[in-house]
Amino acid sequence: MIVLRTKAEVRAHVAQARAAGRRVALVPTMGAFHAGHHALMRAAREAADEVVVSLFVNPAQFNDAGDLAAYPRSEANDAVEAGERGVDVLFAPPVSEIYPEGFATTVSVAGLSEVLEGANRGPGHFAGVCTVVCKLLNIVAPDVAYFGQKDAQQVAVVKRMVRDLDMPSRIEVMPTVREPDGLALSSRNVRLGPADRERALALSRALQTARSAVAAGERDVATVQAAAVTEMGDLEPEYLAIVDPLSFTPLTTIAAPALVLVAAQVGPVRLIDNLVLEPVPAPVAT
Ligand code: AMP
Repeated sequence: MIVLRTKAEVRAHVAQARAAGRRVALVPTMGAFHAGHHALMRAAREAADEVVVSLFVNPAQFNDAGDLAAYPRSEANDAVEAGERGVDVLFAPPVSEIYPEGFATTVSVAGLSEVLEGANRGPGHFAGVCTVVCKLLNIVAPDVAYFGQKDAQQVAVVKRMVRDLDMPSRIEVMPTVREPDGLALSSRNVRLGPADRERALALSRALQTARSAVAAGERDVATVQAAAVTEMGDLEPEYLAIVDPLSFTPLTTIAAPALVLVAAQVGPVRLIDNLVLEPVPAPVAT
């Protein structure tokens, strides 16, 4: 595996691969790899000939300077892990390579970017995500790019951007990888002390409670939401919402697959998680 730092090097490398008829996959990341990142790399490795993983802690998507400063960074170890998973190129540019002097353009998706994560982290969050993903897709020009369902709203926003701007890369989404006790893997989990690690389980438990209620036939969103929030005990969610998976508009009734999403501050870390809710078919009248 090679580590590249500049756009020009990546472009030249990918152009060569493409000239040799190789299909190219991109996995955008902010590093501090865990099994969730590994799953995306594995999927990319299986689907493509040339796998590029980008490692860039994108300042533009952080609304909180403290969160950016505390974001875990472990590039040397990440390079080893990516190499072990058959990644061909680790693209790890400095900030000045992505945002050079005079950088002035922002890509933003209206509506979808303004609710839930957008409302809580500020509209600049998804504009930062879209701008950097747009740039990475332009730099690497992959046939396919891999994202995790763990960041469900990010997936929806990126898919909408790609569709609206006629970007030619295909977007693939991989399921959320969890610890055996249900906690969704996140680079931020390393900052949870033992007591907060235990409290963090409330998020996945709340989502499971919502899923069980819907699987048992409950379709009323307020009832499902109340059961899920109760499951969180004294951990107060920033939001616990049940929405349409494409538009992210709030639902009152679950008549088709829906998304339940939760965010909460657990000690020093803000965590998010989500699950798909599948309603049971209504009984057929006889
Ligand atoms: P990040 O480095 O946190 O920006 O994540 C890079 C990619 O990995 C994003 O597409 C995330 O959605 C995805 N990802 C993060 N955590 C998980 C997880 N637990 N399971 C699957 N994918 C994940």
